[in-house]
Amino acid sequence: MKKSTCPAIVVLILLIQATVALGWHDKTHLATAKVAKYRMWYNAAGPDIAKIKAGDSERYNHWYNNDRKSEVTPQTVTTQINRYNKSNFLFDIEGHLYGAIIASLREYEASINSATYAEYHLVYCAHYIGDLSMPLHNIPYDDYNKNRHSVNDGIVEQEVLEHPEKIARHMYRITLRDDHFEADLTDEIVRIANISRLLGYKLSAESRDLTPEEAYIQLGHSASLLKAVLQHYKKL
Ligand SMILES: [Zn+2]
Repeated sequence: MKKSTCPAIVVLILLIQATVALGWHDKTHLATAKVAKYRMWYNAAGPDIAKIKAGDSERYNHWYNNDRKSEVTPQTVTTQINRYNKSNFLFDIEGHLYGAIIASLREYEASINSATYAEYHLVYCAHYIGDLSMPLHNIPYDDYNKNRHSVNDGIVEQEVLEHPEKIARHMYRITLRDDHFEADLTDEIVRIANISRLLGYKLSAESRDLTPEEAYIQLGHSASLLKAVLQHYKKL
């Protein structure tokens, strides 16, 4: 008997494809890590490369679609931590970027004295902190997001590596207390996620792309948070 593809499976595949988004383009990720003084800045685009082979188990770590347009709270972040690297269609379809930032650091800490490639967990975190400030990674993946995503990912791509000062001028001091590290980091993720989310809604309402200045302000948030994380791990 001839097999036909179940309509439900077709719908499922289409829905999964509908959630695919990229992220700041490569040089933008590299520049953000470099300006934060991360010594492995040249690896900061690697997690996007990993998506090609790892598929959804990596992809969902790069955004949070926030389909209900809810305010991001510490609970939003903490409930995503154990979803890291998971790709269950029911639980992970919105993505879990916020939890991935903390989960990647937990993996780094767990392997810091044993694994040869422990540092690569920190590379993943550096990348996710970059994605955190991309407004379109913090809002629903609707028609606006689909149509404008790639353009906005690359808004400063052509010049950013040659002009790190354009990010640096928007950096500010973030303090993550050693004895409250995860709690403070969670609060900072919440703060930047809400800034990025609200900017994303504004762009969508005005049906326009980021301006370069808006992109640099956003990247300043990511670079500032990454620098604070690196300071915690005495990587500066
Ligand atoms: Zn990404």
